[in-house]
Amino acid sequence: RVVEVEQISFEDESAEVNLRPSSWDDYIGQEKIKKNLKVFIEASKKRGEALDHILFYGPPGLGKTTLSYLISSEMNSNIKVTAGPMIEKSGDLAAILTNLEEGDILFIDEIHRLSPAVEEILYPAMEDYRLDIIIGSGPAAQTVKIDLPRFTLIGATTRAGMLSNPLRERFGMHFRMQFYDHEELAKIIQKASVKLNKNCEDDAALEISKRSRGTPRVALRLLRRVRDFSEVENENMIHLKRCKYALDELGVNESGFDEMDINLLELLVSNRGKPMGLSTIAAALSEDEGTIEDAIEPYLLANGFIERTARGRVASVKTYELFRLSYPNSEKLDDEGRLF
Ligand code: ADP
Repeated sequence: RVVEVEQISFEDESAEVNLRPSSWDDYIGQEKIKKNLKVFIEASKKRGEALDHILFYGPPGLGKTTLSYLISSEMNSNIKVTAGPMIEKSGDLAAILTNLEEGDILFIDEIHRLSPAVEEILYPAMEDYRLDIIIGSGPAAQTVKIDLPRFTLIGATTRAGMLSNPLRERFGMHFRMQFYDHEELAKIIQKASVKLNKNCEDDAALEISKRSRGTPRVALRLLRRVRDFSEVENENMIHLKRCKYALDELGVNESGFDEMDINLLELLVSNRGKPMGLSTIAAALSEDEGTIEDAIEPYLLANGFIERTARGRVASVKTYELFRLSYPNSEKLDDEGRLF
């Protein structure tokens, strides 16, 4: 399943290449992060030094990779892009690091998936721009130190909690990505629709943004699909009516929930207020625990549809209202959260 998610996102990337913002002005939202980054970039340029290492964390599709490209163009530096699962052996990372040039940016997506042995190589590289290579084994083993150019590591992860402490601490800047509000997503959709040569009415852009789970990647995917429906009807503009029709046809719920969201909420509601553990949820939905934690839950938590308790997840009052059900009376629950 994890592999499948990766494949989908790779497909997206190639399709969305020309929609990726190439300037700060085109990068909508995340204002606090942009403001801070601009200060750090200017300061490091003034000092003529490489930018400190940066960690971006948050759910997929919120713009971590895009920001990293923007930083590299702002710093006038090269960016090398890789991902945690692609670096299998410490030698792979050593090869990447020794090929960097002064001021280069190394972007590692899914950095929480680096193996411990590979991480070990990263510590001195990040801290002292040095590579410690051990040659031989046992008492005859020797450490060879190689100096590296001053580079900037940008790590992206959907789960900051999965990063080991020593690795997390070696990043000078940590930024948590936020979900986008409807107005921000509508702006992203408007800018993208111009690039796609298909203007979008304001209310249509807003409609797409309401159904995009606060995520630009989802918004852009829906925009492309809606555009297909308009094109088939020979319409030059994307109108609200066509947009609603297309999104309904695509099965995108009015609250922006996709099928997995609905399945998860229904499951929790059917448990009538009793908390449910992650492994039980994963088994019931035939879904990988990581995908539930990284990609499905964050949006539902951020919008107050589910709550996390020490004993597991429960649906909130808001969710019961959404399903037009009465909220289970908590007085009827015992200490274990069971109905009696
Ligand atoms: P992540 O690395 O967090 O998974 P990406 O950077 O790949 O997300 O973003 C997914 C897509 O959404 C990109 O193709 C990009 O075009 C678009 N996107 C993301 N954030 C923004 C933004 N703030 N403004 C405009 N487009 C964005």
